[in-house]
Amino acid sequence: MGITSGQPEQADGAPQSGRAASLSPSRAADFMRCPLLYRFRVIDKLPEKPSAAATRGTVVHAVLERLFDAPAAERTAPRARAMVPGEWERLVAAKPELAELFQGEDGAESPERLSEWLAGAQKLVEGWFSLEDPTRLEPAERELFVETALESGLTLRGIIDRVDIAPTGDVRIVDYKTGKAPAPQYAGEALFQMKFYALVLWRLRGAVPRRLQLVYLGSGDVLTYDPVERDLLGVERKVLALWEAIRLATESGDFLPRRTKLCGWCDHQAHCPEFGGTPPVYPLPVIPAQSPAPSGDHDSGRMDAV
Ligand code: SF4
Repeated sequence: MGITSGQPEQADGAPQSGRAASLSPSRAADFMRCPLLYRFRVIDKLPEKPSAAATRGTVVHAVLERLFDAPAAERTAPRARAMVPGEWERLVAAKPELAELFQGEDGAESPERLSEWLAGAQKLVEGWFSLEDPTRLEPAERELFVETALESGLTLRGIIDRVDIAPTGDVRIVDYKTGKAPAPQYAGEALFQMKFYALVLWRLRGAVPRRLQLVYLGSGDVLTYDPVERDLLGVERKVLALWEAIRLATESGDFLPRRTKLCGWCDHQAHCPEFGGTPPVYPLPVIPAQSPAPSGDHDSGRMDAV
């Protein structure tokens, strides 16, 4: 188990024999959203097209992280805006394929599309200053890679955007979202991610984080939640049940598609039975299903088990 800053997130390990078993909030959310999507991403490792929105999120996160390299008084909105093109250049240098996001219909680079996209990122960065004041913040950690092994052997890992520690020792976990705050009935997924991080930090440091804070740059909202031990124990139970569901699905190869309105953003419709597609041949050995588990065990690969 450990904590490091700025380390890239390692790929989640599917629960195969001989491999580390690990789970991040993103992959947990994939399985909860659609088990087949989890399979395509984690087991088949099907490629996905870069998206302008996700890439903008990466650039915005980089600006909000690196702005704290400057002395407090210089963490201004104009400085943050000015950092956006440089962070884009840095990103596209590392991933040249991203340049195709800004090609015109003729395949040539479209400076207008790029400059419109950069302006959108700058607007998000600027909007952050109405939600938080970076001249008054000194994060304890930024882009913090965390991982811890539960007693079951399952490793939980993820990257936390920012950790603040008050003079009292209270810990605040902060996550930036470039989208809009969800309606209350849909806030569960984001809160699950934050409680997941809180569980990992609790296991690593022995104290429950005082506050979880979601900063929605797209709508200018800040959502907070103050967890207690009971919340985090509940998340641990949920994660373990989820992992058991993933393990059973991995053994049987039975990853059910779950069609929702989010399918519109899925890159894998061509392989999805819900859209007339056929999944690739399952690449892992299939283990025949065992006789039904005794009542009370998690005996289903469906998400109803979680
Ligand atoms: S299209 Fe929808 S149902 Fe099919 S894999 Fe993607 S998210 Fe799942």
